[in-house]
Amino acid sequence: MSDQAALLPAPLGIFGGTFDPVHTGHLRLAEEAADQLGLACVRWIPAGQPAHRALANKPPQVAATHRLEMVRLAIAGNARFEVDPAEVEAAHPSYTVPTLERLRLAGECAVQRPLVLLVGADAFAGIPDWHRWEDLFKLAHIAVAHRPGFPVNADSLPPALADIYRQRHSASPAALAQSPAGRIVSFAMTQLDISATQIRSLLSSGRSARYLLPDAVIAYIQSTLLYSPR
Ligand code: ATP
Repeated sequence: MSDQAALLPAPLGIFGGTFDPVHTGHLRLAEEAADQLGLACVRWIPAGQPAHRALANKPPQVAATHRLEMVRLAIAGNARFEVDPAEVEAAHPSYTVPTLERLRLAGECAVQRPLVLLVGADAFAGIPDWHRWEDLFKLAHIAVAHRPGFPVNADSLPPALADIYRQRHSASPAALAQSPAGRIVSFAMTQLDISATQIRSLLSSGRSARYLLPDAVIAYIQSTLLYSPR
């Protein structure tokens, strides 16, 4: 271990998403990231108005306050998980780079604390479309979770990201603890072909989504009539 790494606090995972609704794929991603990447904690940050969804004219199906509440229910009792409501409470669209700057500047995360942005392989391939994406690597590391149907290798990425992936990729998660930001690792989580799209489709057609997401979240959906058949 380098002298610098010996002085750094343990890495903090940052997990943003629409969570419309949160499901077992998200939960296993965060849990396995904490174990495999040596994260002290994973901070879940539900997007209020996800900018990429607005651009694609596909806003979330349910209000941000419901998506936040479902995340709270899903992670309850997990001492390594915490939720950050700031993006839900903000009146502006959610962008990852300003979110990371907020965490660094607010003093919530010491300047030197390693931050590890957790993304699925599908989201990683879309990073060149993100607002100020090249600044990401000054602010955080990125850990890419394998997801069924989305290979993680330079040849499958858009050219601008492929170059950065080759420069910054590390085979060892230990690299994440050795600097505050700038490395890319991938990790092979349990492959779960679950998506929020699939769950919304099941619920809207009156079918069961049981075991794809926590019972407490299903109970919340039932009591609020979210995603109900129209
Ligand atoms: P939707 O189907 O509505 O697009 P989603 O299931 O992909 O939603 P998001 O909230 O958009 O869920 O995802 C948040 C993050 O979790 C993204 O980085 C995404 O790649 C990752 N993710 C979601 N589901 C899985 C899964 N089953 N395996 C691995 N990563 C996942």
